[in-house]
Amino acid sequence: MELSTKPKEKIEFNKLQKKLRRLTGQAIADFNMIEEGDKIMVCLSGGKDSYTMLEILRNLQASAPINFSLVAVNLDQKQPGFPEHILPNYLEAEGVDFHILERDTYSIVKELVPEGKTTCGLCSRLRRGSLYGFADQIGATKIALGHHRDDILETLFLNMFFGGKLKAMPPKLLSDDGKHMVIRPLAYCKEKDIEKFSKMKEYPIIPCNLCGSQENLQRQVIKDMLQKWDLEYPGRTDTLFTSIQNVVPSHLADTSLFSFTELEKKKTNLIVLTLFLYRTYL
Ligand code: SF4
Repeated sequence: MELSTKPKEKIEFNKLQKKLRRLTGQAIADFNMIEEGDKIMVCLSGGKDSYTMLEILRNLQASAPINFSLVAVNLDQKQPGFPEHILPNYLEAEGVDFHILERDTYSIVKELVPEGKTTCGLCSRLRRGSLYGFADQIGATKIALGHHRDDILETLFLNMFFGGKLKAMPPKLLSDDGKHMVIRPLAYCKEKDIEKFSKMKEYPIIPCNLCGSQENLQRQVIKDMLQKWDLEYPGRTDTLFTSIQNVVPSHLADTSLFSFTELEKKKTNLIVLTLFLYRTYL
């Protein structure tokens, strides 16, 4: 893609690319996302996040001390108006190994979900099933998704507000059947940086509203809330993200994570230990 040749913009682009590379490399290292010999299936939707993820992973691959391969996969869900030529043209021009997987999940969703009801739940399940199945077919050892730091935070609040759970979106996840390892290499990257990078790279973005679904309204409300907070209190979303990396089970109220009933025993043990130390050393 064409990049500006103006020196100031070039410097800004290089700085941003370096930042995204650093944060992605950090997340990969922290969560042991990529290992020697891995074949990473990079899921490409045609949105800014997945284009950026592919670019940064290719970038890191070139200088990584280990060998791993990347294969881009786009799932064409047969939504009306899906511009089928965009991704193949882009990937061919970039010299990326890729597959376009065609599954008409759109018709299934339309048939099964009553008019007016939200379609995203079923659509996502079908998409996940198709991608997991295809990963097996091509022998991919990891499945990379383009979710970023802000997606993770939004999911945290969605789960708290609507699901009654303190749970976000993990940077690395083993599927329920134990067969697939999902990684999110952009877990530490901010959406606004990805957006800026994507604009500078002039990626051929495919709109994500082709299905006509309105569902993600709740997510949009949370997104607006977080952006407003970050404007009013700069750095708040950074702190929020740090908080999910510093969980203190003894200061929450989940009895399966922390044994509150054992506290009495702990108290007695501490008294005994203190007495022992006191008698021994004083
Ligand atoms: S917005 Fe459309 S394509 Fe995306 S998950 Fe929902 S139904 Fe599927």
